[in-house]
Amino acid sequence: MAPDVSSGGTITIKGTVKLLMSVVEDEERKRVISLGMGDPTACSYFRAANQAEQAVVEALRSGELNGYAPTVGLASARRAIADYLARDLPYDLTADDVYITSGCTQAIDVALTMLTRSGANILLPRPGFPIYELTAGFRHLEVRHYDLVPERNWEADLEAVESLADQNTVGVVVINPGNPCGNVYSYQYLKNVAEMAKKLRVPVIADEVYGHLTFGSNPFVPMGTFGATAPILTLGSLSKRWIVPGWRLGWFVTMDPCGAFKQPKVVERIMKYCDTMGGPPTFLQAAVPNIIEQTNKAFHAKTLDQLELGANILYEVVNEIPGLHCPYKPQGAMAAMVKLDLSVLEDISNDMDFCFKLAKEENVIVVPGVALGLKGWLRFVFSIDPASLREALGRIKVFCCRHSKTVLSEY
Ligand SMILES: *Cc1c(COP(=O)(O)O)cnc(C)c1O
Repeated sequence: MAPDVSSGGTITIKGTVKLLMSVVEDEERKRVISLGMGDPTACSYFRAANQAEQAVVEALRSGELNGYAPTVGLASARRAIADYLARDLPYDLTADDVYITSGCTQAIDVALTMLTRSGANILLPRPGFPIYELTAGFRHLEVRHYDLVPERNWEADLEAVESLADQNTVGVVVINPGNPCGNVYSYQYLKNVAEMAKKLRVPVIADEVYGHLTFGSNPFVPMGTFGATAPILTLGSLSKRWIVPGWRLGWFVTMDPCGAFKQPKVVERIMKYCDTMGGPPTFLQAAVPNIIEQTNKAFHAKTLDQLELGANILYEVVNEIPGLHCPYKPQGAMAAMVKLDLSVLEDISNDMDFCFKLAKEENVIVVPGVALGLKGWLRFVFSIDPASLREALGRIKVFCCRHSKTVLSEY
């Protein structure tokens, strides 16, 4: 039998960044600045909360947390996450609604694996987060992309989304606050998504890994708000809000007051699947209640200020660069999409070519839109210190001017 190559065609962000890094020349002359991967810990400007580190140290030092945790997660951690998420919901959650996973990445795997069946398809946003395509490929789950529309602040045309679905559609994924677009959806839009899901009789998979990381005019509204309309499977983690992506602590949560995902057979199936996964370390799980309770408001407020500053710099500077245009000022998360105008640039054939030449000539890394499903665009991460961000954007400007069709005298 031939080996299964499903999903072999999907390019991951990690893979793309690695390729781009390999063409960087002369690192001594010019340090490499990456606006590629969204790991804010790459610079010391973003740091985990002391209280969170303290909570983990105490849990580890107790000497009582070196054994296995239940595969669905430690009861105290499930409870703490249920309480944390229910603060913003019109109904309560129980510890049993929460399954602890190894980061949000594994929560994506749980959601897609639990939903798939023979012939099934899932609706994914484009541009999106390639881990979904990759996981769907491994699970033989057909992907149907729906377009996020830049002119609508990256909302989708929900009639168009609906028209992609059929009786084999098993779910629709919504990422809010958004990666890669930095969008924060309105209450009304999310309500309309839930109503569409109800009509299609599918759950919404709500990727809220950037939950509460908003700094624009739209507040963060959890998709679970509309759990009575359609079942919501909420995915999240400590990674982004607590700036600890390496801790690998995430969650898969059923927000489903009507109970479809509480049927004993469904619960049993999820629990069995959890038995196949190694979750995060027990001491880390045990620290979760303190991490959530003791991280102070000042830490969260500071992170938002830092992200907002990055978003402002990005939006302002990019829109002064010939050949680039950022149509939407990010209101949340850590990245924005920037449109490439190839008509004003010389000898740049597409977004991938732009990124390779930029890496080679300026030692700056950005992700080509094609890696996220949207050709002709670029993704810029702004969760980096302002000095490095300004320097990277300055080099991108020099690069674009050098490749501009009209000769710009100052360069
Ligand atoms: C970072 C990210 C994830 C993965 O989160 P981890 O907790 O690091 O596994 C999932 N979805 C989106 C949209 C992300 O940006």
